[in-house]
Amino acid sequence: MSHPMRKLVILGGGYGGLAIIQGLLDHRLPDDVEMILVDRMPFQGLKTEYYALAAGTAADVDLRVSFPKHPQLSVQYGDVTSIDLEGRTIHLAQSESILYDELIIALGCTDRFHGIEGAEQYTSSIQSFANTRSTYQRLNDLSPYGHVNIVGGGLSGVELAAELRESRPDLNISILDRHSRVLSSFPAKLSIYVEHWFQVHEVKTLSHVSVTRIEEGAVHNGAEIIRSDVTVWTAGIQPVRVVADLQVAKDAGGRIIINAYSQIAEHPEVYVIGDCASLPFAPSAQAAGAQAEQVAEVIHALWRDETPKLHPIHLKGTLGALGKKAGFGLMGKSSVMGRVPRILKSGVLWVSKRHFG
Ligand SMILES: Cc1cc2nc3c(=O)[nH]c(=O)nc-3n(C[C@H](O)[C@H](O)[C@H](O)COP(=O)(O)OP(=O)(O)OC[C@H]3O[C@@H](n4cnc5c(N)ncnc54)[C@H](O)[C@@H]3O)c2cc1C
Repeated sequence: MSHPMRKLVILGGGYGGLAIIQGLLDHRLPDDVEMILVDRMPFQGLKTEYYALAAGTAADVDLRVSFPKHPQLSVQYGDVTSIDLEGRTIHLAQSESILYDELIIALGCTDRFHGIEGAEQYTSSIQSFANTRSTYQRLNDLSPYGHVNIVGGGLSGVELAAELRESRPDLNISILDRHSRVLSSFPAKLSIYVEHWFQVHEVKTLSHVSVTRIEEGAVHNGAEIIRSDVTVWTAGIQPVRVVADLQVAKDAGGRIIINAYSQIAEHPEVYVIGDCASLPFAPSAQAAGAQAEQVAEVIHALWRDETPKLHPIHLKGTLGALGKKAGFGLMGKSSVMGRVPRILKSGVLWVSKRHFG
């Protein structure tokens, strides 16, 4: 008599979801495990490069990574609308619900607007492949000398501003940030380097800006009105709506609190990976990948009825691009600037593109 199959459902085929599938496939899968990957898109979008897609310097097709193929893996395309933890069921917008025995939530994040009036309605986003394409169109359709404001001078805002400058020398580009400098969570040395690059390349950086309202054509900084033909939002993130709707313990950033095995404590059959998980570091593709590798080992051990050994997660550092020729990075406590971090960043991209190739 054959055993019933155990269904492992993976929600989200991004950095975290694909890394865990790879990690699970690196060791022999038990014969009775069936994996189902659910995503709305037919490939992974390389989110770390969305700034270049928005600016018009990277082609759509170059930011796609195919999903892996394996006899025990199937892919179900669709929009996840809700997760029923009690009924162990995933609801999809236009297809039948999926039951699971074990679940991995790796749905990533979206914009967080901090309740600012008009922000959701009147800004462009670079948080999903689809909305990055609309942002690309809006930015590149701008008339000569149009005004672009990027709200939020963190890594993605800085990368977008620099890339857009190289793509469109005519545009008036400003970064609006509420802190005293861009890249405020990085060492001041890096901010100074980046601000100098912006000065040389005529990108304005406005500090201590507190955006109070956004409307068509303008950003309000208290009483000051800043002209804006396109406003791009890079000022905050939070897990996607399906995760926001989930009634489980979350941290202040809305990320799901997990135990040492990355499970939801009351639902040990559910693992949370990447931007949706409350990790001791800022959300990043690198953290999602490293955590996923760890969780793949945990799952394999539990399938063998062994106690999982936890290898601590070490992150290598952060790399940012300033157009195609310059960059910056933080490796441990060392700041790196110039051509070398840019070359390293291209190397990282090359590796992620060829992961399943
Ligand atoms: C411009 C930019 C630059 C960045 N640069 C860096 C960098 O240099 N280094 C770094 O480490 N990180 C960087 N990041 C962050 C990094 O992209 C994320 O932390 C990483 O993608 C998180 O991986 P994830 O697996 O949690 O989610 P994602 O990679 O976002 O994957 C989520 C997947 O879920 C799918 N999905 C979401 N909701 C649904 C739904 N309801 N139904 C069906 N499918 C759904 C999506 O289609 C997607 O495939 C950057 C981000 C941006 C925006």
